[in-house]
Amino acid sequence: MEENLRTPDTYFADNVFNEHVMANRLPRKVFEAVMSTRRLGTPLPRDAADVVAGAMKDWAVSKGCTHYTHWFQPMTGITAEKHDAFLTPKGGGVILEFSGKELIKGEPDASSFPSGGLRATFEARGYTAWDPTSDAFIKDRTLCIPTGFVAYTGEVLDKKTPLLRSMEAVSRASVRMLRLFGNDRVQRVLTNVGPEQEYFLIDKSSFDAREDLILTGRTLFGAMPPKGEEMDDHYFGNLTQRVSDFMRELDEELWKLGIYAKTEHNEVAPAQHELAPVYTTSNIAADHNQLTMELMKKTALRHGLVCLLHEKPFAGISGSGKHNNWSLSTDDGQNLLDPGDTPQDNMIFLLTLCAILKGVKEYAPLLRLSSASAGNDCRLGGNEAPPTVISVFVGDDLQRVLDAIEQGKPLDANGKERFNLGVDAIPQFRKDATDRNRTSPMAFTGNKFEFRMLGSADSISCFNFVMNTVFASVVTGFCEELEQAADFRSALHELLVRTIRENRDIIFNGNGYGDEWFDECRRRGLPNYPSTVEALMQYDRPEFVQIFEEQKVLTGAEITSRKEILLENYSKTVGIEAKTMLDMARKKILPAVISYTKELMDSIDLKHRLFDEIRIHARVEEELAAKISDLTAALYDAIGDLREQIDAAARAEGTIATAQAYRSLVVPAMERMRTTADALEVLVPQEKWPFPCYSEILYNI
Ligand code: ADP
Ligand code: MG
Repeated sequence: MEENLRTPDTYFADNVFNEHVMANRLPRKVFEAVMSTRRLGTPLPRDAADVVAGAMKDWAVSKGCTHYTHWFQPMTGITAEKHDAFLTPKGGGVILEFSGKELIKGEPDASSFPSGGLRATFEARGYTAWDPTSDAFIKDRTLCIPTGFVAYTGEVLDKKTPLLRSMEAVSRASVRMLRLFGNDRVQRVLTNVGPEQEYFLIDKSSFDAREDLILTGRTLFGAMPPKGEEMDDHYFGNLTQRVSDFMRELDEELWKLGIYAKTEHNEVAPAQHELAPVYTTSNIAADHNQLTMELMKKTALRHGLVCLLHEKPFAGISGSGKHNNWSLSTDDGQNLLDPGDTPQDNMIFLLTLCAILKGVKEYAPLLRLSSASAGNDCRLGGNEAPPTVISVFVGDDLQRVLDAIEQGKPLDANGKERFNLGVDAIPQFRKDATDRNRTSPMAFTGNKFEFRMLGSADSISCFNFVMNTVFASVVTGFCEELEQAADFRSALHELLVRTIRENRDIIFNGNGYGDEWFDECRRRGLPNYPSTVEALMQYDRPEFVQIFEEQKVLTGAEITSRKEILLENYSKTVGIEAKTMLDMARKKILPAVISYTKELMDSIDLKHRLFDEIRIHARVEEELAAKISDLTAALYDAIGDLREQIDAAARAEGTIATAQAYRSLVVPAMERMRTTADALEVLVPQEKWPFPCYSEILYNI
């Protein structure tokens, strides 16, 4: 009870070795060296690292830790850790030790993690390298040190390293841009992210009773319940006691880790919820989001619940996404995406905005593939999440400003505001766009862009390093052009007008779920990659490799390896789902429907025998038995069909052909089987169906 009475400010970040703890525990010079590493990226001297390691160990041991781990984010999509004890034998006893060397570098067996062909070049040797910009923390009495994961030859094998590099690229390009406007103070520009995390909570007993949930995280069968989302009564609805207890405990766990969990509420679908933290620097936000997902799962179990992070746990019910709110801020706290009040700030804003429009238009396939996964394929484009075509929402106010610049006309908003580039008088924008467009993949929301395509289970790293790289590349191009200009003002004007003109096609302020938009996309020639496989195929296009290499984020070889890993991952995921369906259909559904048919037949037989004389009919049983028998035969055929498609995919050669086979052969066969099985579910009594149905799962907590 005592614990519950403590206010969050008394234990916030208790388990984090943050700047405050360092200031208290490190000698002044070492502390300053760490701060300079954090803020300016200068390397930390080895002797300073030894001191930091010693202080970290003492702090961790004082909080009950016995082990430490390098905590990293390999391409599996989840985090990895290998625990080592602090113990070192000495003179027959032990001492607790942790050196700068152990802090800075670890050597997990790289061959056990996906490397997409890079493995051969470094013969299973890889190392984790400390990321001193992200705080170490305590989890399960273990000191966790955030690290990047690279091959011995230097190739990147994780999700974090490219993110850190892309943040450098953004900073370089943006500082260069600010210099053009005479800003000599700013040394660094940071990217910020606030990821809104959606998830489902279900009772553990429902979870345990379904092989599909256990093995794949989503239901592979299931007819729609009588009540779905039509009443709109779940969004922001009251929390049940159990869910509210879960959220309270989760908040406390997150706060202890210094994660600013702030907003929690019910989402649109039954059993669906959302958690949004206060935004922070991208790499920290990425670490925090991984920890949040992990703690959601662990905390749920303590409440007899299971947290589903899959993008589409239930067909026909809204899936879960992760909205990535992205912005840029200078080291003196200025948000480059804030329209601002002064004309000069507005020019920086407009140039930043134009860089984003151009970047999104030119590199749309990269942004699309940054959210590609087998799970997200079930969600994107389904009138509950953004379509698979990338576009940008800017809202009416901003649209008018862009139109006015492009046409060289004064802004005629109700005749009140006047806009004239020559005198730098730019009207103020209403910050909260009145029309809160919720259908756009990428929406300007006042002072940030919200990318809404990410799936709930995704790491946010990929989208962010792609977005950062694209932005840095376009801004670098702008700077090269403007630095050459004899007359900066007119060159800037010309650049803005041209950029708006060339990229206005990427802007769409209407309803992204409407059919008209699909026709319009085709007319505009915007690319559409409906599934993960088509999207990932774009990854290594030469113009994409070029920007990653120029911005020093990834090499061509690293991109190829990522493409391989992600395609392989797709094939494996679909393969497991398909085999799980086969298993459930053969071992659960078929026996259940056959035995129910037998019951019906017995009843028919009985009626015929007993009531033959008085002609009481068995019409209902007969019709049901006939329908079920037909569907049972169809299900039996669907099993054979799916088996064949899986075998065909297994015969495909190479990663690409295999992924394509899973996408074009196996996925449709899974859909066919599901349709048949779901039709059977509706006809069979609930207690005879071999696993819990949707209404039992969704309205049970
Ligand atoms: P909504 O559901 O209306 O999109 P939420 O409050 O659920 O809004 O989430 C908004 C998210 O955006 C939060 O995580 C918040 O911290 C984040 N955010 C706010 N301002 C910025 C910013 N300047 N840069 C990045 N993220 C931001
Ligand atoms: Mg949002």
